[in-house]
Amino acid sequence: MSVLVRGAEVLGQERADLRLADGTITEVGSLQPQRGEQVLDADGLVALPGLVDLHTHLREPGREDAETVRTGTRAAAAGGFTAVHAMANTEPVADTAGVVEQVWRLGQDAGHCDVRPVGAVTVGLAGTQLAELGAMADSAARVRVFSDDGHCVADAALMRRALEYVKAFDGVVAQHAQEPRLTAGAQMNEGELSGRLGLVGWPAAAEEAIVARDVLLAAHVRSRVHICHLSTAGSVEIVRWAKSKGWPVTAEVTPHHLLLTEALAAGYDPVFKVNPPLRSDEDVAALRAALADGTIDAVATDHAPHPREAKDCEWAVAAFGMLGLETALAVVQEVMVEPGLLDWAGVADRMSVRPAGIGRLTDQGRPLAAGEPATLVLVDPAATSTVRAAETFSKSRNTPYAGLALPGRVVATFLRGRQTHGAAR
Ligand SMILES: [Zn+2]
Repeated sequence: MSVLVRGAEVLGQERADLRLADGTITEVGSLQPQRGEQVLDADGLVALPGLVDLHTHLREPGREDAETVRTGTRAAAAGGFTAVHAMANTEPVADTAGVVEQVWRLGQDAGHCDVRPVGAVTVGLAGTQLAELGAMADSAARVRVFSDDGHCVADAALMRRALEYVKAFDGVVAQHAQEPRLTAGAQMNEGELSGRLGLVGWPAAAEEAIVARDVLLAAHVRSRVHICHLSTAGSVEIVRWAKSKGWPVTAEVTPHHLLLTEALAAGYDPVFKVNPPLRSDEDVAALRAALADGTIDAVATDHAPHPREAKDCEWAVAAFGMLGLETALAVVQEVMVEPGLLDWAGVADRMSVRPAGIGRLTDQGRPLAAGEPATLVLVDPAATSTVRAAETFSKSRNTPYAGLALPGRVVATFLRGRQTHGAAR
């Protein structure tokens, strides 16, 4: 059966009808409904290629009380995502072909979006011994992104070896840039406010030192490095410099680092406790500008579900992390589209095309044109909705945006022609 999407603004530009059949976009133009065809009135809706997240914590295996592959990918579809990269810090850690294949199969069974497992760089995320990167790359999961996320690959020699190793299969090492010795016990951004609140500070230099080291290593061994969740103006400057040299460096920023600041720590509500920490107004401004000019390649959610008991406690003992999949596009509309920093084509580039390229996903982030996969999202940019923590497909409730009115609404998501979110209009 085919679906006719009528009158969508493709990438926010010209209106067109799209026919979806057999998993592909078969026609684009001014089309008439066929007999028995489902017609979706997309008047006023923007059509984008399905969003691709480079940084999702699905928690399965091991922490199914926080999230499962099924619930996390359902939340992803609701947020307009058609592919997510599942981070390796599960229990057991995704450091073998067996675990990445398990996560990949769980994703296939759930069917809400493509799940690309991220392989751990080091055994058990312990930072001492390289994991079986080649076996994970050759597995059914075809891993291309490797990361110890949650932990920094702090050992420079090990990082160099990982970068050298992944070249063989066109992989990329995604670094969680956090110098561990400079962040022992750290709770929030280091500055005047951390001193006043009596919380151990997390200096910008602890991130920037690793970003600087790793772009130099990537240049030296000519292998791809991707910097996770950039959070400081200084990190932006280093990435900009590395890119000006033509080095193989990419970077992502989270929605929360584009919208929220360290000022939220003043209420000691652990829902705002995150790694890396929320930073200053100046950092937020630099991150927005860098996403606008392309220095930062991608928005990545760092969706980090936690059960209630991990967040309903004192700041100092609460877990780091916040939800992000269902609100990412709305936050990007709020901070980038509404102020004119990015148009919808730019959003498609930073949330679909470039992350798909970094992850080497060949059938995601494609143009919305005849012959391409019918993998797309329809957004109503004129809608506004207030975020309710209880209204989520995630198993967890730790959204930092509860009570906040955000623009835009995901009306429908399609993965290779199959509707994975939204009802027919
Ligand atoms: Zn991280």
